[in-house]
Amino acid sequence: MTRVFNFGAGPAMLPTSVMEKAQREFLDFANLGAGLIEISHRSKEFEQVLDEADQLMIKLAAIPSNYKILYVHGGAQMQFSAVPLNLINRQPARKAAYVESGNFAKLAAKEAARYGNITTAASSAEFDYDRIPDFNPSALDADTSYVHITSNNTIYGTRWQQFPDTGNIPLVADMTSELLSRRLDISKFGVIFAGLQKNLGPSGLACVIIREDLLDLALPETPNLLNYKTYADQHSLANTNNTFAIYMMKLVLEWLDELGGLDVIEAQNEAKAALIYDVIDNSEFYVGAAHPAHRSVMNVTFNLADNSLLDSFLAGALERGLYALKGHRNVGGARASIYNAMPVAGCQTLADYMQEFERANS
Ligand SMILES: *Cc1c(COP(=O)(O)O)cnc(C)c1O
Repeated sequence: MTRVFNFGAGPAMLPTSVMEKAQREFLDFANLGAGLIEISHRSKEFEQVLDEADQLMIKLAAIPSNYKILYVHGGAQMQFSAVPLNLINRQPARKAAYVESGNFAKLAAKEAARYGNITTAASSAEFDYDRIPDFNPSALDADTSYVHITSNNTIYGTRWQQFPDTGNIPLVADMTSELLSRRLDISKFGVIFAGLQKNLGPSGLACVIIREDLLDLALPETPNLLNYKTYADQHSLANTNNTFAIYMMKLVLEWLDELGGLDVIEAQNEAKAALIYDVIDNSEFYVGAAHPAHRSVMNVTFNLADNSLLDSFLAGALERGLYALKGHRNVGGARASIYNAMPVAGCQTLADYMQEFERANS
């Protein structure tokens, strides 16, 4: 069997060594004679997995001690509900500001509007989200409960290069498509959340990193299993959590730690993205979709100047084991999602193929 280079946006490729380890342990975890997904979430074996996942996350992301890590059901978009339910009541005005940098940001604001007064603090809709909008936090009302941003816009291939200083107003960031891809100052954020399926593991679960003082503000009608305090008080085990997803995440974190952590992966991610952006920038055949100053290192979006060649470009890519390069329908063209697990060789193979395809078709 040969594994493809999987450029899918999510669920996305995981390191082969992680998949192999999970396979080896699948039938018999820790010599129990049973698989991890067959045993209790309250077993000491699973509790150990959970503890190790936390410790690795704290170490890799340099999470300060006044933050909690929660594993919340429902993937990233469930957080679009959980964030307002837990935070909008921080101020009696029930106001929150959303920076509209793409489709997920818009969906998050729409969901939040059920619970309070949502304002669009900045938007790049007029540019078809090819950039992060200018955002001036000092224009926010002081009684704003929180500010929501999407740190990496998966569909458009943009990211915040620097994060805004929102002072006393908690900054909430959807980091689904980039958590642990670069060094961050966690203390700048009130809440960070990420669905696991882009950079951390399987789908269906979100990792939430939250400052402790924000844990106990939920609206009374908040479902128990969306209340951050429930998760914090019971180590994310108020009910049966997704043990398999947490286990897979732990394996991914171990892999990242052995690789050398965020300094190493950040440099590798920059180098990987540069291989593809260089081809785009040195060609008139390919056109980058994102404004160069706002480019993502995780999702590289581009079009072919002659869009009629797209299908043949994608078919030729697949023949070379370059899988799932089709762009999102909102942007069209191609998108290379190159999360942590994508090896340099995958990006090099794609860059070589792009040049070869250009030569053959121009
Ligand atoms: C993929 C993605 C989501 C959606 O995740 P689900 O787990 O499917 O809800 C939300 N936000 C961002 C930034 C994403 O990349």
